[in-house]
Amino acid sequence: CGIVGYIGSEDAKEILLRGLEKLEYRGYDSAGIAVANDDGVHVFKEKGRIAALRNVVDENVDGTVGIGHTRWATHGVPSRTNAHPHQSETARFTLVHNGVIENYEQLKSDYLEGVDLQSDTDTEIIVQLVDRFVKEGQTVEAAFSHTLSLLKGSYAIALLDKQNSELVYVGKNKSPLLIGVGDGVNVIASDAMAMLQVTNQFVEIMDKEIVLVSRDDITIKTLDGTVMSRSPYKAELDA
Ligand code: GLU
Repeated sequence: CGIVGYIGSEDAKEILLRGLEKLEYRGYDSAGIAVANDDGVHVFKEKGRIAALRNVVDENVDGTVGIGHTRWATHGVPSRTNAHPHQSETARFTLVHNGVIENYEQLKSDYLEGVDLQSDTDTEIIVQLVDRFVKEGQTVEAAFSHTLSLLKGSYAIALLDKQNSELVYVGKNKSPLLIGVGDGVNVIASDAMAMLQVTNQFVEIMDKEIVLVSRDDITIKTLDGTVMSRSPYKAELDA
């Protein structure tokens, strides 16, 4: 029911976990994080409280890029398998999603025949679609925008590409989403409160926009590729 993301110079694990704890008030039944480093993308997820997730996170996996999620199940029972992050068949892409995809059954039958889905969620089809369009020759950015343009429903999404851990792909429609900007660090959050530990400067993202988030930059675009410019505001909240 909430997402967080981090790309900076510190170890992402604790920042993501603390961020998820700040989102607990939104309600959830399971939680997970993914951390990217030179060895790949490492996913940890568990049913239940963030405290339960902490127990399964491998302290030895360090990475300065990551995404996290608290899930309030809408499609598929609360379980470790259905918890986010979800990965594509090839495990190249890793994704968290807050919201509901209304046409996921249709998209599954139109595009994902023969794909071995791991979960019962509406979310998993998003990451499988990105993988499919990339396999067909699209760039990751094009595949991401194309996928989002097919979705009906609500989403705040963050996506990691194992082959490029310098970038987090973000998208939004009808679910809350902010990008927090810092010096050599940028963050993603459903609620500014989750990332006040890193920055108090936030940029609002509009529906049907994507954001390419690197350590030093954020690029906001509409789904058809028009670049948008928007200034951050100062979040006046108690951390
Ligand atoms: N619809 C997704 C699921 O059931 C995401 C739910 C949420 O926003 O937490 O997994």
